[in-house]
Amino acid sequence: MSKNKKLGLNTICTHVGEVKDEQFKGAVSPMYLSSSYEFLDVDVKRYPRYFNTPNQEFLAKKIAALEHTESALIFGSGMAAISTMFLAFLKQGDHLVVQNTLYGGTVNFIKEEFPKYGIEFTFTNGYKVEDFEAAIQKNTKLIHIETPSNPLLTITDIRAIAKLGKSKGVLTSIDNTFASPVNQNPMDLGIDMVMHSATKYFGGHSDILAGAVASSEEHIERIWNVGKNLGGNLSDMTVWMLERSMKTLGLRVKAQTKNAKKLAKWLEQHPKISKVYYPGLKSHPEYHLAKSQMKGFGAMLSFELTNDLDSQQFQKQLKLIKSSMSLAGVESTMLSPYLTSHALLTQQERDAIGLSNQLIRFSVGIENIKDLKCDINQAIAALQ
Ligand SMILES: *Cc1c(COP(=O)(O)O)cnc(C)c1O
Repeated sequence: MSKNKKLGLNTICTHVGEVKDEQFKGAVSPMYLSSSYEFLDVDVKRYPRYFNTPNQEFLAKKIAALEHTESALIFGSGMAAISTMFLAFLKQGDHLVVQNTLYGGTVNFIKEEFPKYGIEFTFTNGYKVEDFEAAIQKNTKLIHIETPSNPLLTITDIRAIAKLGKSKGVLTSIDNTFASPVNQNPMDLGIDMVMHSATKYFGGHSDILAGAVASSEEHIERIWNVGKNLGGNLSDMTVWMLERSMKTLGLRVKAQTKNAKKLAKWLEQHPKISKVYYPGLKSHPEYHLAKSQMKGFGAMLSFELTNDLDSQQFQKQLKLIKSSMSLAGVESTMLSPYLTSHALLTQQERDAIGLSNQLIRFSVGIENIKDLKCDINQAIAALQ
């Protein structure tokens, strides 16, 4: 466990992993852009692709402190983080068990790349621990989960998955992007590795593409060994921007989470909304499980408009809430999963997982709640 675990969330966000400005005593970390460092008489041979420039090395400490792990690595994207993590623990003949509802880029990586390396995989039939157990084979080396999931916000039992992995001698990993470490710390629940698309809440302003993995020193060393060969590091200029963004991670995500909870309750009562998916609602099938493993329920929710409203027209009528592909910025955004993340599935496949064309995914921002409600109401009114 990191020695920083005792510091409060906002103190970690603000201070852990600062690079001290010894020369000028400036208040913020200097940006080290060197791609070339001294090699004689030094403890560390530094090079950006080795993930060990001062800005990379220090920001990794902040991420490790936030996820209560010994160590962490920062990558050029969430996909660089996840692909490097998978390739560090899976080789020819190994088998991965992975949740069926998963970020689309991760699905593509597995389906398009694994066959080239002779790595086997099984997508589960559901998100319950029994579904994962049923998919385990003799050669399974890793179980990978995503909770809350996209876009229906299903909750997988993190403790049960960690226990299952340990009982079978299989490592476990989680994509913790949706919850962020503000709302969920899977390492405390027994998961071996935590990855993030830092493009989302870590960045938080929709202007940075980055990724991260947090775990024990031993696992991070193994991921580093593959990472230096794959070359997926983040540029130091962006590392510096990410550090600046992360100072407000706690403040932002808490404000967004609070807004999301209030909006979920409001939408649930709304006559033109037929269904709301949010783990913080008592009507959510895994509400109690979510409560037992999350510190907050997150700022992502989905809802279905009643059948008389056209979901595309609704989004076109919004004035404040942007219709946008990505998520987790301070600004609220919405999208239609059937036109974006799940566009490549057939209507039948979408029906099978309960993904309606009326479904809208809502990434809740920090705006004043009355303005968000007003925007939704005026868009609905414009369609009637
Ligand atoms: C965006 C996202 C990713 C991929 O991250 P990039 O930074 O776009 O490479 C992975 N997992 C989840 C849950 C995401 O939302």
